[in-house]
Amino acid sequence: MLHNKLDIANLNTPIQKLDQLSDALGKNIYIKRDDYTGSEISGNKVRKLEYTMQYVLDHGYDTIITTGAITSNHARATAALCAKCNVSYLVLRGEMAEYEGNLFLDAMLGAHIHIIEPTSSREDAMDKLYKTFEGQGKTPFLIPVGASDWIGTHGYVNAYNEIIKQQDELKVHFDSINVAVGSGGTYAGLWYGQMINCETTQIIGYAVDQSAHTFKNKVIEIIKQLDETIQSYETITINDAYIGLGYGKATDEELQFYIDIAQKEGIILDPTYTGKAFRGLVHEIKSGAYDNQDNILFIHTGGLQGYTQETRLRLQTMLHKIDLSLLK
Ligand SMILES: *Cc1c(COP(=O)(O)O)cnc(C)c1O
Repeated sequence: MLHNKLDIANLNTPIQKLDQLSDALGKNIYIKRDDYTGSEISGNKVRKLEYTMQYVLDHGYDTIITTGAITSNHARATAALCAKCNVSYLVLRGEMAEYEGNLFLDAMLGAHIHIIEPTSSREDAMDKLYKTFEGQGKTPFLIPVGASDWIGTHGYVNAYNEIIKQQDELKVHFDSINVAVGSGGTYAGLWYGQMINCETTQIIGYAVDQSAHTFKNKVIEIIKQLDETIQSYETITINDAYIGLGYGKATDEELQFYIDIAQKEGIILDPTYTGKAFRGLVHEIKSGAYDNQDNILFIHTGGLQGYTQETRLRLQTMLHKIDLSLLK
C-alpha cells in the first residue's frame, strides 16, 4: 500500500440524508458528496489522482499522458492538477464538439489536447505520444483511463476509511454503499477497503457502459495489482441493468428522473454516471432488492459538466418555461 498522497481535494466530503426520498422509499437514503471535492477538480477522480500525482512526483516523471472521452471528468481533473506545470497531454476519443463542459475546461487549464476518432485505440495513441516524448529525452508517465489502476484505487480505500469514521459520527451503519462503475477504480477501492476492514457493508456497483462480467474482471485485475493475497472475489456485486442507451446517452425517462431528483432534493445527477447509478438504485429498492437493508449510502461522484448541448436542449423542452415578462 502507498502511504503518501497529495493533499488537494476537499476532504472529508459530507454525508447528507435525502429526506424526501427516504420517506418515499421507506429507507434511510444517504448521499456522500464527492461532487464537493473541489471545483476544477470536482468529483471522484481527484481522490485517485492525489495518489497518482504523488507517485509521479516521487519517481521523477516530467510529462503526464492520459486519456478518456471528450467529456472526460478524469481528463479535466488531471488537466487542473497539471496546469501549473504545463505537462498534461490528453488523448480524448470521440466526436469533436464545441468547446463546452469538460473540453472547455481542459482547454482553459492549458492541457495539450489530442482528439482521436471514436473507433481508434486510445492505448495506441498514448503509446505514440509516449515514444515521441521519450525520443525528446523526457520521462513520461501514462495514467490509464479514470486513473483506475492499483495506484489510483488507493483514493477509494481511503474514502472507505473516511466513511467508517463518518458512520460513528452519524451513529449509523450503512448496509450498502452504492456507486457508478465506469473504469472500476472507485469500486475496487471501496470493495478492498471493506474487505481489509472486515466490514459487512455490501459494495454495489452500477455499470454505466460495459457488462457486469467485464467490470468484475476489471475490478479483480486492479485489486490483484494491489494485493495478491485475496482469496475470494465473490462479494463483488455489479448491476448492468441500467446502462440504457449507452455511455453518455440518456432516454427521456432518465432525463425526467434527473429533473425529479433535482427538484425534490436539490441535487443534480449527471447523465453519464451518477444519474444511471442512482436511477438503478431507486428502481432496485422499489423492486425489493434492498428489502433487508435500512441504511443505504450512495456516493455522488460528480460529473455535472457532463450535460452536453444535445442533452441540455432536450431538457429545455421538459423544464418550466422561463417567464420573460417583467414583474410589475
Ligand atoms: C469516472 C466517474 C465515475 C466512475 O468511476 P470509476 O472509478 O471510473 O469506475 C463515476 N462518476 C463520475 C462522475 C465519474 O467521472
